[in-house]
Amino acid sequence: MTDALHPRLASLLAQLDQGAPTNIGYPVARDVDYRPLAPFLGYLLNNIGDPRVDPTFPAHVKDLEREVVSFFAQLFGAGPERYGYVTSGGSESTLYALSVARDLHPTGIVYHSRAAHYSVTKAADLLGLPRVPIAVTGDDEMDYGDLYRHAEAYRGRPAIVVASVGTTMTEAADNVKRIREALDLAGVRDIYLHSDAALSGIPLALNHRTGPAFDLTAGADSVAISGHKFLGTPIACGVVVGSHLPGGRDPVAYLGSPDNTISGSRSGLAALMLWHAITTQGYAGMRSRAAHARALAAETVVRLRAAGWSARRAKHAMTVVIDPLPEALRQRWPLPIAGGRSHVITMPGVQRSSIDALLSDLAAHGARPVEILCR
Ligand SMILES: *Cc1c(COP(=O)(O)O)cnc(C)c1O
Repeated sequence: MTDALHPRLASLLAQLDQGAPTNIGYPVARDVDYRPLAPFLGYLLNNIGDPRVDPTFPAHVKDLEREVVSFFAQLFGAGPERYGYVTSGGSESTLYALSVARDLHPTGIVYHSRAAHYSVTKAADLLGLPRVPIAVTGDDEMDYGDLYRHAEAYRGRPAIVVASVGTTMTEAADNVKRIREALDLAGVRDIYLHSDAALSGIPLALNHRTGPAFDLTAGADSVAISGHKFLGTPIACGVVVGSHLPGGRDPVAYLGSPDNTISGSRSGLAALMLWHAITTQGYAGMRSRAAHARALAAETVVRLRAAGWSARRAKHAMTVVIDPLPEALRQRWPLPIAGGRSHVITMPGVQRSSIDALLSDLAAHGARPVEILCR
């Protein structure tokens, strides 16, 4: 196949292959093989409009999309009255959830932690919703005391809260039950709560007994995940599921369906890929991938500390928070740096040999011993 490629693209492909082992700073799984779906690249699959109504355009896979939505609705504890669809990613999911919240509570105020993904600010601003950033603890979880203080000051206004479930730098998860408690205590009556669980939604839901509370059974009104993170779909996508129906728009005659989604044409290929992922893995497969990723993260913390590099990890996280690498290593290891911290994410498919290579580069660049902390 590569023979047929333009030389520019062939070299791009080689570059991607070469960069893969050191590309471990972003939450992208790479162990799910989507190549069996290649024959579908010969078609445009367009799931335009409402997922519940088949469009006139015949090349769609809304039946598969509905199965994907059902799978996640069940995983996140949604009841029979629920709505959801396959989005273009976490950002669209947040925009959708906040637009539903605004329909229900036009005078609402958006509360989100300072560690929330930047898309939350963007969505609130696009919708013209006022927002109040809430302080975080040292590990980036929302400070519920600070939420209480702010919510009390505006207790006559509805609260639209975005819980970050897997923050960008540390993978901390806000606790929906504690958010509800803080709002109740503050005397806020009208509440909409969205769990932005782009990275951690699937692995935490599969770990239900012990993981933080974030889903619909814990009191969230909607939950969203990204498809290209834990499931590693090769195109950006996401799923949003909520317990409120969107403010019903009129059917569009030309489509043969109403459109309550944010975008118009939607990627049927994304729905197909998600369907492929959940069908080939099931709960058991996903759970074991998550366990494996966490084990590699735990081991990476120990090995980095032993090598004299500071490292820590939130319980249940695949993210290992570290001091920024020495300048000389940053080109080869493109790890994000924010707020004086960096991280490695041992997503499913990250090889142990990548960690070996990072450790040996650190040793060669004089990692200095730090105190080994007991946890
Ligand atoms: C990745 C991420 C997003 C954004 O998702 P996109 O698919 O990139 O739009 C939003 N929130 C959280 C918590 C994320 O981890």
